[in-house]
Amino acid sequence: MEFRCCDSTFKSEGEFKKHLGSRRRHYNVDSANISIEVQKGTIMNVLTSPRLLFGLMGNIVLSQEIGCQRPGYLMSGENVISVKVEGPFLEAGMIGYRINLQDQKVQYDISFKTSNLPGRSNITALVKMIVDIGRIGRIMPGQVIKALSNNVITPGKLIREFIEPAMKALEKLSESGRKEEVEAQ
Ligand SMILES: [Zn+2]
Repeated sequence: MEFRCCDSTFKSEGEFKKHLGSRRRHYNVDSANISIEVQKGTIMNVLTSPRLLFGLMGNIVLSQEIGCQRPGYLMSGENVISVKVEGPFLEAGMIGYRINLQDQKVQYDISFKTSNLPGRSNITALVKMIVDIGRIGRIMPGQVIKALSNNVITPGKLIREFIEPAMKALEKLSESGRKEEVEAQ
């Protein structure tokens, strides 16, 4: 079994444990290109609205807004974890969000970039997860591995199980919107 962490690959659990013990902060990244039949303007409206975006993703429920920080809840299997969401940050054509899990010292940086294709749009989604395993994690890397394989939402899982389905749902919604327009004429 291979382990990926901090842009490196570890061939055995022993090597990975050694790496985990070497520092407190670790990161993992994943990305995907999603192509859907929706106009770029519509996608931008969704990506820049936390309520619409996380509503479509379905795993994060936002509560009342406080300045640019929004407290909320992340649904992960049967667990409900309290989170803090910041964003959207607009930078160099990218739309970004930062999600902090309150108790777990886990942070996700999610960014999106959209581009036009003939008749459709392409969305590049990039997710970086930063985990602070703490002093105890450094001493007991086996516990960290167990936690990671059990209930932590990895960047790959966030993309495959939440972001991709959200974009597909958006495509379905805009498709039925177009049909209604045609039928109304
Ligand atoms: Zn690492």
